[in-house]
Amino acid sequence: MTSQYSSTAEIQKLDAAHYLHPFTDHSALAKKGARVIVKGQGVYIWDSEGNKIFDAMSGLWCVNVGYGRKELADAAYAQMLQLPFYNSFFQTTTEPGVRLAALLTEIAPPQFKHVFFSGSGSEGNDTIVRLVRRYWDLQGQPERNVIISRWNGYHGSTMAGASLGGMKGMHQQGGLPIPGIVHIDQPYWFEHGRTQYPNLSKEQYGIEAASWLEKKILELGPEKVAAFIGEPVQGAGGVIIPPSTYWPEIQRICDKYGILLISDEVICGFGRLGTWWGCEKFGFRPDLMTFAKGVSSGYVPLGGVMIGDRVADVLIKKGGEFTHGYTYSGHPVAAAVAIANIKIIREEKLVEKVATETGPYLAKVFEALKEHPLVGDAETCGLVGALILVKNKSPIQLFDEKLEVGMVCRGHCFSNGLIMRAVGDRMIIAPPLVTTLKQIDELAALIRKCLDLTWTELNNRGWLT
Ligand SMILES: *Cc1c(COP(=O)(O)O)cnc(C)c1O
Repeated sequence: MTSQYSSTAEIQKLDAAHYLHPFTDHSALAKKGARVIVKGQGVYIWDSEGNKIFDAMSGLWCVNVGYGRKELADAAYAQMLQLPFYNSFFQTTTEPGVRLAALLTEIAPPQFKHVFFSGSGSEGNDTIVRLVRRYWDLQGQPERNVIISRWNGYHGSTMAGASLGGMKGMHQQGGLPIPGIVHIDQPYWFEHGRTQYPNLSKEQYGIEAASWLEKKILELGPEKVAAFIGEPVQGAGGVIIPPSTYWPEIQRICDKYGILLISDEVICGFGRLGTWWGCEKFGFRPDLMTFAKGVSSGYVPLGGVMIGDRVADVLIKKGGEFTHGYTYSGHPVAAAVAIANIKIIREEKLVEKVATETGPYLAKVFEALKEHPLVGDAETCGLVGALILVKNKSPIQLFDEKLEVGMVCRGHCFSNGLIMRAVGDRMIIAPPLVTTLKQIDELAALIRKCLDLTWTELNNRGWLT
């Protein structure tokens, strides 16, 4: 054990000296030391101190088939020996990329027959910005270049991705958003639907929230609007599950003005909501879909864009060369891993399982967690869930944001073998799709324990009165 402790310290020291982490206050982390994760199996990970942790976030919403899948390692190994890399720029192609493209169009809704590959979700959304503008140029309407997105949406961290996203903190750095991207409010019932529209039902609020898109289109002039982009369920924004009326109304509005509809499926794709794609769960028909994360279960970096017939027909027939692409577009090793990953999702019927077994069971478990004195609301959709921590339940009284109560709870989770993420005071989960019913019970017990510990700490600090 002693040697393990010294090696943790050594890694932490090198980490602090050289490794700038994403979305991290570097000097704060350097003082504390990063937790070193060394191993994963199924839904669990282990740190360098030997602690076993239930990873209820699937890494970063991506390890859908769970850790330690030999099939994926074998696929990567075989492909690396056969052909570790070749590009698809200069009239060449590689079989794994071709097979994956065909497979993706097989599992996607029928309007999708083409795929453009990237290395990540952010890059996929950069491709989308270029593609959408290219489409309208080719249609002879170059002035149609504004993309409408939503506050508190997340679409990645590159210039275009962060601009499409509606994270105000991200916009404060680097002069974002880039021109031609505007935002409307999110359909967040608990935050402002409940308080600002007390006379509307949740479903009526969904229609109201969608109407903000129409308002924005009319304000800009429909002839200027190229596309609307959104996540079916907002992930990084805190697992914001829209009312069932929202997306069909968004679809109606996009159709009315001829605006392209883009579904960012980076989290919702590949079974997360109990359907292959989030748009299927909410009943809308996008023209473009971004994917990443679950496509390879995070085992290797991979992303891309599903391109619907409306865009593909113009791009292919009228387009000539589209001057865009990445060195790693269709990377053969990544593609081979993704094919093996999709095979597992199919053979183990993980999508159906989320729809009929684990998703409904998680919903039941979360419903029961509503009885906890800290939980103001609990929502799930497939295998994503959110608990909202409140100071008082009736009437609902939120905590002062500055107290960062969510971080207090996250701290207790972190030291009690559970990865649950805090977005403000929303505690969120997205466990691997292979999570069993028994493991959901285990997860519920861990959550309850951490909520109790949080309640005790808040009570001791006098924050509950
Ligand atoms: C994670 C995420 C992205 C960005 O993907 P990266 O691979 O981190 O670039 C984009 N959109 C959504 C919805 C995401 O959750």
